[in-house]
Amino acid sequence: MSVRNRRGNPPVLKRFGQHFLHDEQILNRIADAAAPMPGDTVIEIGPGRGALTDVFARRPNRLAAIEIDIALSEQLRKKYAGNPKITIVEADVLETDIAALAEGSYVVVGNVPYYITTPILFHVMRAPFPRHAVFLVQLEVAERIVAPPGSRTYGALSVNLQAIATAEIMSQVPRTAFRPPPKVTSAIVRITPLADAIVTGEEAVRFRSFVQGLFGMRRKQIANVVRSVSQLTAAQVGDVLESLEIDPKARPETLSPVEQVALMRAVRLASDHDNS
Ligand code: SAM
Repeated sequence: MSVRNRRGNPPVLKRFGQHFLHDEQILNRIADAAAPMPGDTVIEIGPGRGALTDVFARRPNRLAAIEIDIALSEQLRKKYAGNPKITIVEADVLETDIAALAEGSYVVVGNVPYYITTPILFHVMRAPFPRHAVFLVQLEVAERIVAPPGSRTYGALSVNLQAIATAEIMSQVPRTAFRPPPKVTSAIVRITPLADAIVTGEEAVRFRSFVQGLFGMRRKQIANVVRSVSQLTAAQVGDVLESLEIDPKARPETLSPVEQVALMRAVRLASDHDNS
């Protein structure tokens, strides 16, 4: 016999980061920000009880929703059984090939579970890219995503995301818009892939660890940081920085995504040259 709460829903599972939206205005705002074109598939991550799914059910695009909670998936499948545009996929989003599910152009939406926001962002932002990805995330994470170089919140997440996409905070969402309410304020963030990504798909994983290395020493001078994360001599590091017109005394936290990609490539080139 399945367990249900007093509203007839499966129990709230904290381990899956479940906070359900009930504010119609915010749900419409997320759907509007996703702005699917005719023919785009909407991929929804973590549909929960279907609050956002309902908004798209009234719109023309096909939607595939990925939900990990077995009880919620069953409930959703029954709910949308009569709607041929909607497919419910019971799976872990991080193990799902999103583009394959879309079968063509697509947008991604989701009030995503906060415990895996960053892995979801990087799982989604891969080629073939969605037209947009619109996520409801913690405000603090949204601020890190859009932060410019030199700002307090600029870090590895900002650089890695901005090397492949532009991002904008569409609006803030108060705790009261959810049941149960989370501890913190949230924000709708729209991410749009760059027509020409600064970093290639092949470089993405290496770039992430390079950036992690730089921000591990964000307040140190870049010349010393590059020496620590590479095998290059002080003179070689000096040459690399000079060729890129980067001040050796600059701090990693002031370098733009373009400069960090250029630095990774130049360090690699100098190291390869050394080893050949
Ligand atoms: N979209 C719904 C709403 O706004 O009311 C629910 C949002 S709730 C914050 C996050 C949802 O993601 C939950 O339904 C949860 O079960 C689901 N979820 C958590 N981890 C997941 C994963 N790895 N893959 C797919 N869904 C997941």
